[in-house]
Amino acid sequence: MNRKLGFIGLGNMGLPMSINLLKANYEVYGFDTNVEVVELFTEAGGIGLASAKDVAMQCDVIMTSLPTPQIVEMVYLSKEGIIYHAKKGALLIDFSTVNPDLNDSLHKEASTLGLRYLGAPVSGGVIGAVNATLTIMVGGDKDDYDSASEIFGIVGKNIYHLGLSSSVGTRLKLLNNLMIGFYTEAVAETIVLGEKMGIDADTLYEVLSNSYGQSRIYERNYEEYIKNNNYTPGFSTNLLLKDLKLAKGMADEAGVSLRIGEKLVDLYSEIAQQGYGENDMSAAYLSLKDTCKIKQL
Ligand code: NAD
Repeated sequence: MNRKLGFIGLGNMGLPMSINLLKANYEVYGFDTNVEVVELFTEAGGIGLASAKDVAMQCDVIMTSLPTPQIVEMVYLSKEGIIYHAKKGALLIDFSTVNPDLNDSLHKEASTLGLRYLGAPVSGGVIGAVNATLTIMVGGDKDDYDSASEIFGIVGKNIYHLGLSSSVGTRLKLLNNLMIGFYTEAVAETIVLGEKMGIDADTLYEVLSNSYGQSRIYERNYEEYIKNNNYTPGFSTNLLLKDLKLAKGMADEAGVSLRIGEKLVDLYSEIAQQGYGENDMSAAYLSLKDTCKIKQL
Protein backbone atom coordinates (compact mmCIF):
# COMPACT_ATOMS: atom_id res chain seq x y z
CA MET A 1 0.00 0.00 0.00
CA ASN A 2 2.87 2.38 0.61
CA ARG A 3 4.38 1.80 -2.82
CA LYS A 4 5.09 5.07 -4.60
CA LEU A 5 3.23 5.25 -7.89
CA GLY A 6 4.24 7.17 -10.99
CA PHE A 7 1.96 8.19 -13.86
CA ILE A 8 3.32 9.55 -17.14
CA GLY A 9 0.81 10.93 -19.65
CA LEU A 10 -1.99 12.73 -17.80
CA GLY A 11 -4.33 13.16 -20.77
CA ASN A 12 -7.96 12.25 -21.31
CA MET A 13 -7.35 8.76 -19.90
CA GLY A 14 -4.28 9.19 -17.66
CA LEU A 15 -5.60 12.11 -15.63
CA PRO A 16 -8.80 10.44 -14.38
CA MET A 17 -6.96 7.14 -13.85
CA SER A 18 -4.30 8.83 -11.74
CA ILE A 19 -6.98 10.75 -9.82
CA ASN A 20 -8.66 7.45 -8.93
CA LEU A 21 -5.34 6.23 -7.53
CA LEU A 22 -5.06 9.42 -5.48
CA LYS A 23 -8.60 8.91 -4.19
CA ALA A 24 -7.52 5.44 -3.04
CA ASN A 25 -4.86 7.19 -0.90
CA TYR A 26 -1.86 6.29 -2.99
CA GLU A 27 1.02 8.73 -3.26
CA VAL A 28 1.16 9.45 -7.01
CA TYR A 29 3.96 11.26 -8.84
CA GLY A 30 3.12 12.49 -12.33
CA PHE A 31 4.57 13.99 -15.46
CA ASP A 32 3.12 15.30 -18.70
CA THR A 33 4.60 17.62 -21.32
CA ASN A 34 1.38 19.67 -21.07
CA VAL A 35 1.66 21.85 -17.96
CA GLU A 36 -2.10 22.49 -17.87
CA VAL A 37 -2.91 18.86 -17.15
CA VAL A 38 -0.11 18.64 -14.59
CA GLU A 39 -1.83 21.52 -12.78
CA LEU A 40 -5.11 19.59 -12.71
CA PHE A 41 -3.21 16.58 -11.37
CA THR A 42 -1.57 18.56 -8.57
CA GLU A 43 -4.90 20.22 -7.69
CA ALA A 44 -6.25 16.69 -7.17
CA GLY A 45 -3.40 15.93 -4.72
CA GLY A 46 -0.77 14.50 -7.07
CA ILE A 47 2.90 15.45 -7.00
CA GLY A 48 4.03 16.88 -10.35
CA LEU A 49 7.64 16.24 -11.39
CA ALA A 50 9.78 17.87 -14.06
CA SER A 51 10.42 14.82 -16.28
CA ALA A 52 9.58 11.20 -16.93
CA LYS A 53 13.07 10.35 -15.72
CA ASP A 54 12.32 11.97 -12.33
CA VAL A 55 9.16 9.89 -12.03
CA ALA A 56 11.12 6.74 -12.85
CA MET A 57 13.78 7.50 -10.25
CA GLN A 58 11.21 8.07 -7.46
CA CYS A 59 8.66 5.33 -7.99
CA ASP A 60 8.13 1.60 -7.44
CA VAL A 61 5.38 1.29 -10.04
CA ILE A 62 5.55 3.45 -13.17
CA MET A 63 2.47 3.70 -15.37
CA THR A 64 2.21 5.26 -18.81
CA SER A 65 -0.79 6.37 -20.89
CA LEU A 66 0.70 8.00 -23.96
CA PRO A 67 -0.77 8.80 -27.39
CA THR A 68 1.43 7.01 -29.93
CA PRO A 69 3.92 4.13 -30.13
CA GLN A 70 6.64 6.62 -31.15
CA ILE A 71 6.13 8.64 -27.96
CA VAL A 72 5.96 5.49 -25.82
CA GLU A 73 9.24 4.31 -27.34
CA MET A 74 10.88 7.66 -26.63
CA VAL A 75 9.59 7.84 -23.04
CA TYR A 76 10.85 4.32 -22.32
CA LEU A 77 13.98 3.95 -24.42
CA SER A 78 15.61 7.32 -25.07
CA LYS A 79 18.73 8.25 -23.10
CA GLU A 80 16.52 9.91 -20.49
CA GLY A 81 14.00 7.08 -20.80
CA ILE A 82 12.31 5.48 -17.82
CA ILE A 83 13.79 2.04 -18.47
CA TYR A 84 17.29 3.38 -17.89
CA HIS A 85 16.45 5.32 -14.72
CA ALA A 86 13.92 3.14 -12.89
CA LYS A 87 14.89 1.45 -9.63
CA LYS A 88 15.81 -2.24 -9.90
CA GLY A 89 12.71 -4.38 -9.50
CA ALA A 90 10.35 -1.53 -10.44
CA LEU A 91 7.15 -2.51 -12.22
CA LEU A 92 6.36 -0.72 -15.50
CA ILE A 93 2.76 -0.80 -16.71
CA ASP A 94 1.90 0.57 -20.14
CA PHE A 95 -1.80 1.38 -20.55
CA SER A 96 -1.25 2.96 -24.00
CA THR A 97 -2.35 1.28 -27.21
CA VAL A 98 0.83 0.52 -29.17
CA ASN A 99 2.03 -2.04 -31.71
CA PRO A 100 2.46 -5.53 -30.25
CA ASP A 101 6.16 -5.64 -31.21
CA LEU A 102 6.80 -2.61 -29.04
CA ASN A 103 5.28 -4.31 -25.99
CA ASP A 104 7.55 -7.29 -26.61
CA SER A 105 10.71 -5.26 -27.09
CA LEU A 106 10.04 -3.10 -24.01
CA HIS A 107 9.42 -6.26 -21.98
CA LYS A 108 12.68 -7.75 -23.17
CA GLU A 109 14.72 -4.62 -22.47
CA ALA A 110 13.08 -4.17 -19.05
CA SER A 111 13.83 -7.77 -18.07
CA THR A 112 17.47 -7.40 -19.13
CA LEU A 113 17.78 -4.46 -16.74
CA GLY A 114 16.08 -6.21 -13.80
CA LEU A 115 12.74 -4.45 -14.24
CA ARG A 116 9.25 -5.87 -14.65
CA TYR A 117 6.85 -4.91 -17.45
CA LEU A 118 3.18 -5.43 -18.29
CA GLY A 119 1.39 -4.41 -21.51
CA ALA A 120 -2.05 -3.38 -20.26
CA PRO A 121 -4.14 -1.48 -22.82
CA VAL A 122 -7.56 -0.37 -21.71
CA SER A 123 -11.02 0.02 -23.18
CA GLY A 124 -14.09 1.87 -21.95
CA GLY A 125 -13.35 5.45 -22.89
CA VAL A 126 -12.96 8.56 -20.78
CA ILE A 127 -16.18 7.73 -18.95
CA GLY A 128 -14.68 4.38 -17.98
CA ALA A 129 -11.49 6.09 -16.81
CA VAL A 130 -13.47 8.57 -14.69
CA ASN A 131 -15.82 5.95 -13.22
CA ALA A 132 -13.08 3.31 -12.86
CA THR A 133 -15.02 0.87 -15.02
CA LEU A 134 -12.29 0.28 -17.62
CA THR A 135 -11.67 -3.10 -19.17
CA ILE A 136 -7.93 -3.86 -18.83
CA MET A 137 -6.29 -6.41 -21.13
CA VAL A 138 -3.07 -7.47 -19.51
CA GLY A 139 -0.17 -9.47 -20.90
CA GLY A 140 2.96 -10.43 -18.96
CA ASP A 141 4.26 -12.53 -16.07
CA LYS A 142 1.60 -13.80 -13.69
CA ASP A 143 3.51 -12.67 -10.58
CA ASP A 144 3.80 -9.17 -11.98
CA TYR A 145 0.11 -9.19 -12.82
CA ASP A 146 -0.73 -10.33 -9.29
CA SER A 147 1.42 -7.59 -7.78
CA ALA A 148 -0.48 -4.99 -9.86
CA SER A 149 -3.95 -6.39 -9.22
CA GLU A 150 -4.79 -3.83 -6.53
CA ILE A 151 -3.91 -0.97 -8.90
CA PHE A 152 -5.92 -2.54 -11.73
CA GLY A 153 -8.89 -2.93 -9.37
CA ILE A 154 -8.76 0.78 -8.54
CA VAL A 155 -8.64 2.08 -12.14
CA GLY A 156 -10.76 -0.61 -13.81
CA LYS A 157 -13.56 -3.11 -13.42
CA ASN A 158 -13.14 -5.97 -15.91
CA ILE A 159 -9.55 -7.09 -15.69
CA TYR A 160 -8.11 -9.92 -17.75
CA HIS A 161 -4.73 -11.57 -17.51
CA LEU A 162 -4.55 -12.94 -21.05
CA GLY A 163 -1.20 -14.66 -21.07
CA LEU A 164 2.54 -14.44 -20.45
CA SER A 165 3.28 -12.60 -23.68
CA SER A 166 3.29 -8.87 -22.93
CA SER A 167 1.63 -8.10 -26.29
CA VAL A 168 -1.39 -10.38 -26.04
CA GLY A 169 -3.58 -7.68 -24.45
CA THR A 170 -2.64 -5.27 -27.24
CA ARG A 171 -3.69 -7.79 -29.87
CA LEU A 172 -7.15 -8.04 -28.30
CA LYS A 173 -7.36 -4.29 -27.87
CA LEU A 174 -6.60 -3.71 -31.57
CA LEU A 175 -9.35 -6.17 -32.55
CA ASN A 176 -11.73 -4.16 -30.38
CA ASN A 177 -10.72 -0.91 -32.06
CA LEU A 178 -11.04 -2.43 -35.51
CA MET A 179 -14.70 -2.99 -34.66
CA ILE A 180 -14.97 0.56 -33.29
CA GLY A 181 -13.75 1.79 -36.69
CA PHE A 182 -16.52 -0.14 -38.48
CA TYR A 183 -19.26 0.95 -36.08
CA THR A 184 -18.30 4.61 -35.99
CA GLU A 185 -18.58 4.93 -39.77
CA ALA A 186 -21.76 2.82 -39.76
CA VAL A 187 -23.35 5.22 -37.25
CA ALA A 188 -22.33 8.23 -39.37
CA GLU A 189 -23.68 6.75 -42.61
CA THR A 190 -26.92 5.60 -41.00
CA ILE A 191 -27.78 8.94 -39.41
CA VAL A 192 -26.81 11.04 -42.45
CA LEU A 193 -28.84 8.84 -44.80
CA GLY A 194 -31.78 8.77 -42.37
CA GLU A 195 -31.77 12.56 -42.05
CA LYS A 196 -31.52 12.99 -45.82
CA MET A 197 -34.75 10.95 -46.11
CA GLY A 198 -36.45 13.06 -43.46
CA ILE A 199 -36.09 10.62 -40.56
CA ASP A 200 -35.43 12.46 -37.32
CA ALA A 201 -32.16 11.34 -35.68
CA ASP A 202 -33.76 10.91 -32.22
CA THR A 203 -36.53 8.73 -33.66
CA LEU A 204 -33.99 6.68 -35.60
CA TYR A 205 -31.92 6.20 -32.45
CA GLU A 206 -34.93 5.18 -30.38
CA VAL A 207 -36.18 2.62 -32.91
CA LEU A 208 -32.73 1.16 -33.65
CA SER A 209 -32.09 0.91 -29.90
CA ASN A 210 -34.80 -1.75 -29.98
CA SER A 211 -33.37 -3.44 -33.07
CA TYR A 212 -30.24 -5.37 -33.99
CA GLY A 213 -28.68 -2.26 -35.50
CA GLN A 214 -27.94 -0.91 -32.02
CA SER A 215 -24.37 -1.04 -30.68
CA ARG A 216 -22.43 0.37 -27.73
CA ILE A 217 -20.72 2.68 -30.22
CA TYR A 218 -24.06 4.00 -31.57
CA GLU A 219 -25.07 4.70 -27.97
CA ARG A 220 -21.76 6.43 -27.21
CA ASN A 221 -21.37 8.39 -30.43
CA TYR A 222 -24.99 9.54 -30.57
CA GLU A 223 -25.86 10.14 -26.92
CA GLU A 224 -22.60 11.77 -25.88
CA TYR A 225 -21.48 13.59 -29.02
CA ILE A 226 -23.70 13.83 -32.13
CA LYS A 227 -26.90 14.64 -30.22
CA ASN A 228 -25.14 17.40 -28.25
CA ASN A 229 -23.23 18.70 -31.28
CA ASN A 230 -20.09 18.54 -29.13
CA TYR A 231 -17.03 16.81 -30.56
CA THR A 232 -14.45 17.48 -27.84
CA PRO A 233 -12.65 14.13 -27.44
CA GLY A 234 -13.23 11.50 -25.88
CA PHE A 235 -11.32 9.38 -28.27
CA SER A 236 -9.95 11.41 -31.14
CA THR A 237 -10.10 10.50 -34.84
CA ASN A 238 -6.29 10.59 -34.87
CA LEU A 239 -6.08 7.97 -32.10
CA LEU A 240 -8.60 5.73 -33.87
CA LEU A 241 -6.64 6.09 -37.11
CA LYS A 242 -3.45 5.12 -35.28
CA ASP A 243 -5.13 1.98 -33.94
CA LEU A 244 -6.59 1.03 -37.33
CA LYS A 245 -3.13 1.26 -38.86
CA LEU A 246 -1.79 -0.93 -36.05
CA ALA A 247 -4.62 -3.44 -36.61
CA LYS A 248 -3.84 -3.49 -40.32
CA GLY A 249 -0.16 -4.14 -39.54
CA MET A 250 -1.18 -7.01 -37.28
CA ALA A 251 -3.43 -8.46 -40.01
CA ASP A 252 -0.67 -8.14 -42.63
CA GLU A 253 1.66 -10.09 -40.35
CA ALA A 254 -0.98 -12.77 -39.82
CA GLY A 255 -1.69 -12.93 -43.58
CA VAL A 256 -5.35 -11.99 -43.14
CA SER A 257 -6.88 -9.63 -45.66
CA LEU A 258 -9.17 -7.12 -43.94
CA ARG A 259 -11.60 -6.46 -46.75
CA ILE A 260 -13.28 -3.49 -45.11
CA GLY A 261 -10.74 -2.83 -42.35
CA GLU A 262 -8.09 -1.83 -44.90
CA LYS A 263 -10.42 0.75 -46.41
CA LEU A 264 -11.05 2.21 -42.96
CA VAL A 265 -7.43 3.36 -42.77
CA ASP A 266 -7.94 5.47 -45.92
CA LEU A 267 -11.35 6.64 -44.77
CA TYR A 268 -10.23 7.93 -41.35
CA SER A 269 -7.10 9.47 -42.95
CA GLU A 270 -9.46 11.49 -45.16
CA ILE A 271 -11.62 12.44 -42.18
CA ALA A 272 -8.50 13.66 -40.35
CA GLN A 273 -7.41 15.60 -43.47
CA GLN A 274 -10.83 17.27 -43.58
CA GLY A 275 -9.87 18.80 -40.23
CA TYR A 276 -11.51 16.37 -37.79
CA GLY A 277 -8.34 14.66 -36.54
CA GLU A 278 -8.39 16.25 -33.10
CA ASN A 279 -12.19 15.95 -32.76
CA ASP A 280 -13.85 12.95 -31.20
CA MET A 281 -14.10 10.05 -33.67
CA SER A 282 -17.89 10.52 -33.79
CA ALA A 283 -17.17 13.56 -36.01
CA ALA A 284 -17.18 11.01 -38.86
CA TYR A 285 -20.82 12.12 -38.97
CA LEU A 286 -19.84 15.78 -39.61
CA SER A 287 -17.28 14.68 -42.18
CA LEU A 288 -19.89 12.72 -44.15
CA LYS A 289 -22.28 15.66 -44.02
CA ASP A 290 -19.50 17.88 -45.45
CA THR A 291 -18.79 15.33 -48.18
CA CYS A 292 -22.47 15.12 -49.14
CA LYS A 293 -22.71 18.92 -49.40
CA ILE A 294 -19.65 18.99 -51.64
CA LYS A 295 -21.16 16.31 -53.87
CA GLN A 296 -24.36 18.32 -54.26
CA LEU A 297 -22.53 21.34 -55.76
P1 NAD B 1 -4.36 12.15 -24.84
O1 NAD B 1 -3.74 12.69 -26.05
O2 NAD B 1 -5.57 12.80 -24.26
O3 NAD B 1 -3.28 12.03 -23.65
C1 NAD B 1 -1.94 11.73 -23.85
C2 NAD B 1 -1.12 12.62 -22.91
O4 NAD B 1 0.25 12.30 -23.11
C3 NAD B 1 -1.30 14.11 -23.21
O5 NAD B 1 -1.67 14.80 -22.04
C4 NAD B 1 0.08 14.54 -23.71
O6 NAD B 1 0.42 15.87 -23.35
C5 NAD B 1 0.96 13.52 -23.02
N1 NAD B 1 2.28 13.39 -23.63
C6 NAD B 1 2.61 13.42 -24.94
N2 NAD B 1 3.93 13.25 -25.11
C7 NAD B 1 4.46 13.09 -23.85
C8 NAD B 1 5.76 12.86 -23.36
N3 NAD B 1 6.82 12.76 -24.17
N4 NAD B 1 5.93 12.76 -22.03
C9 NAD B 1 4.87 12.87 -21.17
N5 NAD B 1 3.62 13.09 -21.59
C10 NAD B 1 3.41 13.19 -22.92
O7 NAD B 1 -4.66 10.61 -25.18
P2 NAD B 1 -5.67 9.64 -24.40
O8 NAD B 1 -7.00 9.71 -25.08
O9 NAD B 1 -5.55 9.87 -22.94
O10 NAD B 1 -5.03 8.24 -24.81
C11 NAD B 1 -3.87 7.73 -24.20
C12 NAD B 1 -3.66 6.30 -24.68
O11 NAD B 1 -4.80 5.51 -24.29
C13 NAD B 1 -3.55 6.16 -26.21
O12 NAD B 1 -2.63 5.18 -26.51
C14 NAD B 1 -4.96 5.77 -26.62
O13 NAD B 1 -4.96 5.06 -27.84
C15 NAD B 1 -5.40 4.93 -25.45
N6 NAD B 1 -6.85 4.89 -25.20
C16 NAD B 1 -7.62 6.01 -25.27
C17 NAD B 1 -8.99 5.93 -25.01
C18 NAD B 1 -9.90 7.15 -25.08
O14 NAD B 1 -11.14 6.97 -25.09
N7 NAD B 1 -9.39 8.35 -25.10
C19 NAD B 1 -9.56 4.70 -24.69
C20 NAD B 1 -8.75 3.58 -24.61
C21 NAD B 1 -7.39 3.68 -24.87
